[in-house]
Amino acid sequence: MSTASIHPFVCIDRFPVGVAARQRAHELARRERADNDRTDQLARLALDGQRFWQSGRVLRVGFLDGSRALHRAVLNVAGEWTLHANLTFVDVTEDAPSSAELRIAFAKHPPSVSWSYFGTDALLIASGEPTMHLGAAAAGASTPEACGAILHEFGHALGFVHEHQSPASAIPWNRAALISFYSGPPNYWSEEQIEHNVIRRYSAAASQYTSFDPLSIMLYPIPKELTDGVFEARLNYSLSATDCAFAAQVYPRR
Ligand SMILES: [Zn+2]
Repeated sequence: MSTASIHPFVCIDRFPVGVAARQRAHELARRERADNDRTDQLARLALDGQRFWQSGRVLRVGFLDGSRALHRAVLNVAGEWTLHANLTFVDVTEDAPSSAELRIAFAKHPPSVSWSYFGTDALLIASGEPTMHLGAAAAGASTPEACGAILHEFGHALGFVHEHQSPASAIPWNRAALISFYSGPPNYWSEEQIEHNVIRRYSAAASQYTSFDPLSIMLYPIPKELTDGVFEARLNYSLSATDCAFAAQVYPRR
């Protein structure tokens, strides 16, 4: 299989691990916002259920490393979400970064790695520890790839899940090729991790879209080598119309 067309951007979902932590995550989500309680049978299995912040919320952002110029550039890109979602990001890096709801590191993990906890799950993470890692933007926030990664990870921080794992998604995966690709470098994922990060679909309660949106910022780039040879999805660098509409729906302005 040629890997030439496979983009290196990799985003690994982060979830609280363990039954007690997941129960606590559900509690925190419900305390933040009553309609986060809209879960279903699958949610009891723990990774599902909504993690949205209260609409109108001011979310403090603390950067744990990186230059101030980079911090400003990242928030400038991430601010596109707040044109649609009724949320405000406030940079508290110079005052109390460890008390921020969203704590961002660029170089705590290998450079290519980007991830974020989902929405209110960030409340569960020990203060001082990152809730988001932006390896893809460590060298700057001006390339389309870096902008795409920032918007994608902030999408998770707002509680949005991967588009390719939405219940409306029906990607014709080539399972053998998928496992071969992600079990090799640089990911070295187990079959369980591949199932969790790529193949598994969320229950309807946890997902945002009623139909699959190939332009969503929350979609992984998917090359033809990993599907039936026909289906492919390109890397998206900006919010789609559906992303914007959904952000406005979840976080309405009153
Ligand atoms: Zn992701």
